[in-house]
Parts: sequence; structure tokens; C-alpha cells
Amino acid sequence: MIAAPPGELLRAPLFHTPRNPFQDSSALESFSDGGLLIRDGRVAGCGDYAALRAANPGVATVDLRGGFLLPGFIDTHTHFPQLRVLGGLGRSLLDWLEHRALPEEALMADHSHACCVAKRFVHSLVSHGTTAALVFGAHFAPATAALLEAADAAGVRMAAGQVLSDRNLRPELHQAPERAYRESSLLIERFHRRRRLIYAVTPRFALSASEAILEVCQTLLREHEGLLFQTHLNENVREIAEVARLFPWASDYLAVYERFGLGRTGAVMAHNIHPTAFELERLASSGAAVAHCPCSNAALGSGLFPLRHHLNAGVRCALGTDVGGGTGFGMLKEALQAYLLQRIAPDGMLLHAGHLLYLATLAGAEAMGLRDETGDFRPGKSADFVYIRPPAESPLAAVLEREQNPVGTLAAIFTLAGSESIREVRIEGSVVYRSDEGGTR
Ligand SMILES: [Zn+2]
Repeated sequence: MIAAPPGELLRAPLFHTPRNPFQDSSALESFSDGGLLIRDGRVAGCGDYAALRAANPGVATVDLRGGFLLPGFIDTHTHFPQLRVLGGLGRSLLDWLEHRALPEEALMADHSHACCVAKRFVHSLVSHGTTAALVFGAHFAPATAALLEAADAAGVRMAAGQVLSDRNLRPELHQAPERAYRESSLLIERFHRRRRLIYAVTPRFALSASEAILEVCQTLLREHEGLLFQTHLNENVREIAEVARLFPWASDYLAVYERFGLGRTGAVMAHNIHPTAFELERLASSGAAVAHCPCSNAALGSGLFPLRHHLNAGVRCALGTDVGGGTGFGMLKEALQAYLLQRIAPDGMLLHAGHLLYLATLAGAEAMGLRDETGDFRPGKSADFVYIRPPAESPLAAVLEREQNPVGTLAAIFTLAGSESIREVRIEGSVVYRSDEGGTR
């Protein structure tokens, strides 16, 4: 991490969504000759460069024209131990878990391996422009600590927690409820609210959690303020049927979590591809958010996400990459996939670039309770941003030479920009990643 200078004015075209474009058609703001004024790591101004220049004559300008400034991306669902199982195509959820993901997750018992993966995982986040993430840790407390230490060392904004399960996985991934409580409590004490870290209580899913483990989650949330909660919900039809068999008293999948007070503000439920109308109604009134993971949903054949039904019911939605059920770390790609699947989903929505930017930034901040801190360039927020500049010979550079319309420019970035175009990433004004034509320095 490179410390930020006390004040600077960055000059480049910029985009952000300070409001929700699903509710406000003017939510996308763009400045073709934009300025982002940063003071002590916070956004002090955002708008036309010339006006900011005139009003702040003593501040040095950093000329970044040729590229674009966007708020840092926020990934609301991803699994740290699954980095090395990305690309396992051809399986559905339960089969994929058993044969591909869980054997790899068991390797997290080896602490030196976990430390190595943790560093690579955090580097993969920032090198794709992700400045905040809600992450499933490992089933092992030391490996989860390694992840949180790596995030803290890199300065990344992260909420994560030890994954809790006590049945139906592999025996080495199970914890007795007492141990789950003890280990989680120690991790909370050590990491919760340390700099940019938040602890997230993380039962894997109802399928691998007994009532006793869910009670532990409830107790942890009662005992500590400001924790987040994350789990999976309604991802796959076989999973849903199995949950119904395991919890015969529950009227639906969500009711399992609700029984223990876990459907609440600060909860992020991953996937929710197959909800009932009644579940959506309750999610909306509880304040819980849903992490939509379109790459994973397609790769595992889990289904098409009913975005319109979620939004009509008033459920907050953000985006997640779901490494390694998904296809990588790129939130630009994830947002593009959301667009593509909505184009073919029954009752799908036609998303424009402003929707994609919101889903990849401010929506994530809202889901993680960070709305006042990050997600857009409103003054007072942390200066968390991505500088995107396509390589000179790339198709994106060619498209942008021709494109004059800001919405078209942003759409081209979502369609064509990969990690090769991510040149600099900053959190609270400090550089957490920088590259030159493919190399990292
Ligand atoms: Zn997941």
C-alpha cells in the first residue's frame, strides 16, 4: 500500500451512481472532463475538472486522461478457499461441492497453504478493481485469520467470517457447535472493526447446519454489535428439496434462517434464484440483501435470477462473483453477465450501463452497511476508486476512439474491459494496486 498525498485533483472522465438507477433514471452521473478532488483519503469534490481546478488553485493536478475513473467495485459474495477450483465446468451445485470445492476447502487445514492462498486471493480482488468484499472464509479458524490478516495488510475493505457447518459435508469440515462458538468469538474479538475489517457470521447453508449451529450464529449476532451475516439461499432445486427434508417444520428455505433471527438488516443471502413470492416479501421487510451471482448461476446451471421480482418486492440486490463456482474475480464481467442473462430470462429486465455500475458499486456498499463510507464519489466518502485505461491495441481502445456518448462509453467498458485495463486501484486515497501494461509494481 502506498500512502496518499494530503491533497490532489485527479483529471479523467469519470462515472458514478450516487443514487439507485432502478428508482431514479438520472442516477448515473458522468463527467467527460471530470475531476476527483481528494483530501486526506476522502472525496472532497467530484464534477467538471475546470470548475474544481478554479476553486482549488493550490492542489496539484494528476492528469489521467486516456483512462476513466469509477468507484471501487464491491463483491458481495465470494469464497476465499475456492481460488484454485475456478474453471470446474460441467457440474451442478451439490456434485460440484462434493467433488471439486469441498476437497479443496479441506486443504485449508494446512496453515502455510492457507496463508499463501489468502495473499493470492486478496491480490486477485484488488487487481480486478475490487476495493470491498464480503467473503466466505474457511471452515478452519486459523485459515480464516490468515485471510483477514492478508486483507488488513493490503488495506482492503473486507467483511469475512469462519464458515460454520456441522453436517452433510466432509467430517474434517464440521465443527461441534461449542467449538464453532468459541472459535468465532475469538476471531470476532481479534478482527471485528480492526481498521477496514468487519466480521461476518457465516453458516455455509442450511443444508450443512444443524439447529444448534444456527443457534450459535444467533448468539454471536446478539453478543456483538455491527456484525454482518452471510449464507446461501435458494440456489439449486435439489438443495431446496433437501433443506425441506432436513427442516420439516420450516414453511420454506428462508424460514429456517428466520427461526433463528438471521433474516435481518446486515444479512446478505447469496443467489436466491428460486424464491417464493412470500419469501421475497419477507426479505424486503427484514432489510436483508441478496447477492446475485450470474456467472456462477450459469456455470453451475443453477437457474436464471428473477431480478424483476426481487426489485418489485423491494428486495435489495447487489452482485457477487462466487469464486470458484463463478468464472473469476472481475466485477465488470459479473455485471455484464447479469445484463446478458436478463436479456434471455423470462420476464428479464433490460439493464443499461448505469444499472450495471450501481450493482457493482453502491448496491454492494448498501448491502454491506457501508453506504456512508464507499460506493460512489459523493464528498465525504472514502476515496475508493479504480482507474481503467485499456491497452492501446485492444478492441476496447478502438471502440472508445469512436464512442462519444457517456452511457455508450460505460457500456463498452463493461463489455470489454478485463483486468488488463485495471491500472490503479486506491482505497481511502492510498494505492493498493498499480500496473503498467500488464506488470505490477
Ligand atoms: Zn457461494
